[in-house]
Amino acid sequence: MDKNFKAGFVSIVGKPNVGKSTLMNLVMGEKLSIISPKPQTTRHQIKGIYTDENKQIIFLDTPGFLKARYELHNRMLEYLQNAIKDSDIILFITDAHKFPTDYDEQLLQFIAKFKKPKIALLNKIDLVEKTVQDDKLNLLQGKEFDYVLPVSLQQNPDLAGLLNLLDRYLPINPPFYSPDEVSDLPMRFFVQEIIREQIFLNFRDEIPYATSVSVETYHDLPNKVEIAANIWLERDSQKPIIIGKNGENIRKIRENSEREVYRILQKRAKLELWIKIKPNWRKKKNALKEFGYL
Ligand code: GDP
Ligand code: MG
Repeated sequence: MDKNFKAGFVSIVGKPNVGKSTLMNLVMGEKLSIISPKPQTTRHQIKGIYTDENKQIIFLDTPGFLKARYELHNRMLEYLQNAIKDSDIILFITDAHKFPTDYDEQLLQFIAKFKKPKIALLNKIDLVEKTVQDDKLNLLQGKEFDYVLPVSLQQNPDLAGLLNLLDRYLPINPPFYSPDEVSDLPMRFFVQEIIREQIFLNFRDEIPYATSVSVETYHDLPNKVEIAANIWLERDSQKPIIIGKNGENIRKIRENSEREVYRILQKRAKLELWIKIKPNWRKKKNALKEFGYL
């Protein structure tokens, strides 16, 4: 192994919808964390691992930084804090179109107390005029960042440039993970996220936030995977919404999820979904633990 090999952890922090998952997926070339137009879809700390001949970067995709309205949100804050503590570089991402929001300011204050290299990405510059972009870059340069980079992660991202920038701040270390590992998350967890993404994409208002998914069984057979999962709701009245007329909503969730599992694994998936009620699970510590948020 090269004695100059670099390896380390990068925590991606930013307001919901700024492009954190887009960045992760771009780097990984795979759809590891869920992307959807609705905020707050990433509740778990998801790792993606990038490895080449000279470096290994382990990305921590953090949940949002939220006012503690529910018990769940306290957990999110803790995850965020833990991700930052465990990282070598803090990668702050913001939306050029919206920066600076109150949320950005709060987050900047929050990360200021961590003495680690900090990089800011001013994302979505495709949405603003050059003069606006320059103003916002100036604002960011006034904060305590080691580097500020304007990008458009969706339009024409300079991935190599970004990886080289991160490389400059990575410590010398042997790799933490075997190079062919894309993620250390078990497939069960991916499936859980895939189903949850379908719920976020297909339902509005309170439903996505009142829903949790647990994978109960996962059988990896030679020619297919057989999965059974529970969809947990808070109230009986939410059940018919998820099921839909003649079961068409639940069928759509199942079929789309099966297709997505196939896309990732290149293996046929047979998914069984069960709807369960756990009254007010978001406010209960026990339930949060059971669903893996604690
Ligand atoms: P996250 O909540 O921070 O993880 O944000 P996502 O990665 O899920 O992105 C939120 C939305 O912004 C998605 O609809 C993305 O397609 C979009 N988006 C991400 N990067 C860009 C960009 O550079 N330009 C534009 N116009 N949209 C972007
Ligand atoms: Mg996300």
